[in-house]
Amino acid sequence: MARTFNFSAGPAVLPEEVLLQAQEEMLDWHGSGMSVMEMSHRGKEFVSIAEQAEADLRELLAVPDDYKVLFLQGGASSQFAMVPLNLLQAKTTADYINTGAWSKKAIAEAKKFCKVNLAGSGEASGFTTVPAQGELKLNPDAAYLHFTPNETIGGVEFPYLPEAGDVPLVADMSSTILSRPVDVAKYGIIYAGAQKNIGPAGLTVAIIRDDLIGHAAAKTPAMFDYDILAGANSMYNTPPAYAWYLAGLVFQMLLRKGGLAAMAETNQRKAKALYDAIDNSDFYANPVDINCRSLMNIPFTLANAELDATFLAEAKEAGLVTLKGHRSVGGMRASIYNAMPEEGVQALIDFMADFEKRNG
Ligand SMILES: *Cc1c(COP(=O)(O)O)cnc(C)c1O
Repeated sequence: MARTFNFSAGPAVLPEEVLLQAQEEMLDWHGSGMSVMEMSHRGKEFVSIAEQAEADLRELLAVPDDYKVLFLQGGASSQFAMVPLNLLQAKTTADYINTGAWSKKAIAEAKKFCKVNLAGSGEASGFTTVPAQGELKLNPDAAYLHFTPNETIGGVEFPYLPEAGDVPLVADMSSTILSRPVDVAKYGIIYAGAQKNIGPAGLTVAIIRDDLIGHAAAKTPAMFDYDILAGANSMYNTPPAYAWYLAGLVFQMLLRKGGLAAMAETNQRKAKALYDAIDNSDFYANPVDINCRSLMNIPFTLANAELDATFLAEAKEAGLVTLKGHRSVGGMRASIYNAMPEEGVQALIDFMADFEKRNG
């Protein structure tokens, strides 16, 4: 068996030790005589798995007591609708910052439910930078301010936390959650699809301040109502049980490894090494403003785009896969989430240097 270094943006690489543990527990979880996939979500075994996962995530992110942690289905994309449905209350407008592809999708969905005030945009820069706090045109009557801390496709992230006063801050953290500590108390809602930096696809984590729960619009489907989901401990219907379990194994592994401060250090080292390799070469380039460069998703282009296919084919040959850039951007993209080991990043850097020597 040969594992590759997988640079996929999502579903993405999972920690090998977690996969091995899941393999070990696959047929008989802790003497239960069954796989977690076969368990009733209401049985004491799965309830203990679910509760442990929540407790561990709370510990990792130091989630304050007045926040609910939900384990949901529907992906981050469902949150694009759930946020306005649950947070607008009597208000008719929400603030959004547009920093790229995922912001745009969130905005398009919100427009079905309310007036969107574009509080800031990186569009003029080709989404290579994010608007500064001083440039934001915030509406004090907005129901919330939504932003995307890390744009997975463009590889651009906020170097600061937007400040919106009393207006709740809502963050789509799909591609950056668990990559470093965050001060949860600064947010109204943090949500994330699991398939980038948490676990397998099919699970979505939402961390919601209590006062934002219980105000869903009248015709909100039950599956979209935070109050119903929270009231049922994320088990209003059958939850994504196996993905929840696997996410729990990831949380335990992160705690064993020293938590998110340790992750942040490693992630900074990994990203710096790759950006240095790109910046120190005339053959590779990354367009993103240095202050807004993503630690997780690093797009880069080759000086000659005609070599893209050769680069990808030879990289694959070297065990470095899923490096093709998003179809909307082209070039390459290396996603280097928590589970990408430093050796993987170093192997990519070595390959890039060798490729340049032969083709530059
Ligand atoms: C991947 C991604 C999404 C979409 O997530 P789904 O779970 O597929 O709906 C949304 N936002 C960001 C920032 C992402 O990276």
